[in-house]
Amino acid sequence: MASVGIIGAGIAGLAAAYELHRRGLEVTVFEASDRIGGFIQSERIDGFLVEHGPQTLQRTSADLEELLRRVDLEDACIPAHPVASKRFVVRGGQPIPLPRSPRELLRTPLLSPRARLRLLAEPFIVRSHRGTEESVARFARRRLGLEVFDYLVEPFVAGIFAGDPERLSIRHAFPKLFELEQEYGSLFWGLIRDRMKQRHHPAPHRPMFSFIEGLHMLPRALAEHLPSHAILRKAEVLAVRWDEKNPWTLSFRANGRVSTRFFDIILCATSLHRMAKIRILPPLERHPLETVAHPPIALVALGFRREQVAHPLDGFGLLVPAVEREFQILGTLFSSSLFPDRAPEGHVLLTTFVGGMRHPELALLPDEQLEALVLQDLRRLLGITPPPVFRHVWRWERSIPQYQLGYDAVIACARDVEMSRPGLFLAGNYLEGISVVDALHTGLKAARRIIQHLREEAAGGLAKLLLGD
Ligand SMILES: Cc1cc2nc3c(=O)[nH]c(=O)nc-3n(C[C@H](O)[C@H](O)[C@H](O)COP(=O)(O)OP(=O)(O)OC[C@H]3O[C@@H](n4cnc5c(N)ncnc54)[C@H](O)[C@@H]3O)c2cc1C
Repeated sequence: MASVGIIGAGIAGLAAAYELHRRGLEVTVFEASDRIGGFIQSERIDGFLVEHGPQTLQRTSADLEELLRRVDLEDACIPAHPVASKRFVVRGGQPIPLPRSPRELLRTPLLSPRARLRLLAEPFIVRSHRGTEESVARFARRRLGLEVFDYLVEPFVAGIFAGDPERLSIRHAFPKLFELEQEYGSLFWGLIRDRMKQRHHPAPHRPMFSFIEGLHMLPRALAEHLPSHAILRKAEVLAVRWDEKNPWTLSFRANGRVSTRFFDIILCATSLHRMAKIRILPPLERHPLETVAHPPIALVALGFRREQVAHPLDGFGLLVPAVEREFQILGTLFSSSLFPDRAPEGHVLLTTFVGGMRHPELALLPDEQLEALVLQDLRRLLGITPPPVFRHVWRWERSIPQYQLGYDAVIACARDVEMSRPGLFLAGNYLEGISVVDALHTGLKAARRIIQHLREEAAGGLAKLLLGD
């Protein structure tokens, strides 16, 4: 039986481990921290269910559905409340609902009449040349105008990537928008064509969801379907060495001691910045991988009695555009409006994001200062009366990888790393998209590549035997 050493027990590593174990391979997962799940961490404290990382998943693929079925999680899924389709963006210090239909778009106070007129020009803007690399900001301003960029695009980029649209690449960060322009010459015509296609072949509904006890139920269920000895916690991988004989020797530190283990295959499923630190021997060129920014972000979860919040909290949450300069937060999720049982009876839970590429320094402030800053903004935006009855701060010093201009070099380098040594594979959120489901897919795909590689090796070995080589 071939053995696979997997580095990292985030969703990518665990999905791969689950799939390889199911196919009969021997897997060992090395996890540097004492918890599995990577960014996916849910914790119930004083009756409030807090998510430290991702907050929602989307049912976007058949692979995900099958996995949920196999690990018996279907009954634990809870769809987001219908109010989640309503989102607020701040303009002039007020949360204003985002338009949800063309008719609402033409009336929304979020955009001036001039900006709405400018939107109507979108179908007539010439498409960019496929070869030119454009930032998200340039793309959006060129196609949609400055105001739509400021109030619709920029806050979403901060909400999804914690990113800076001036530096993110449209082709890598939002490939679907890039392709719509390339294929149809206009986002407007592209969306209309998509709608028409869907009349004949309706696209699957992709609702948002979580699990009864939070997103951490997913990595936990994957881990529970592995043998108990398959995951080593507090085991940080330092180096992997390839040679003809073994073929992979993996060195890791656990309990203050460095030990080695041998494997046929190595799958590296860590974040990009951690991967760049693991020594690969003989050495490989990995410079482009070391240049990717991962901005810090803080999550401030605050609980209130319902009557302490004037706003109806009838939505997903609010986003604060960078042009609304009197505010410092990136946005706030109305966590207890989204899913049931996130706060004790008669209470609400709000999760606020601070930092990212916009204000990296703020994410690193001490807890009390962060709380004060969040309360100052929420008092104005949601009519909150302090003090909160519950508070919990969590920080990621290095969060989401930024798919910035020049990201082609990163993808090419990752591909070279995989091709350069037989039996070395990569998975993670820097390859095909930053969502949990994207990362999970890279794990499943890596597992399939590993099985294919082993089949080819076996076929090669058999051929040698038959030919008496
Ligand atoms: C604040 C925040 C909010 C987010 N919100 C959402 C959301 O709402 N929806 C969504 O879909 N996505 C969201 N995301 C993105 C998503 O959570 C991540 O992209 C995804 O979980 C990444 O999974 P991964 O397995 O690729 O990596 P990770 O989760 O980073 O896991 C990698 C693991 O490898 C381990 N490791 C690293 N180095 C070593 C080593 N040398 N040896 C052993 N182990 C090592 C780490 O400890 C970690 O456990 C959010 C991310 C953040 C930070």
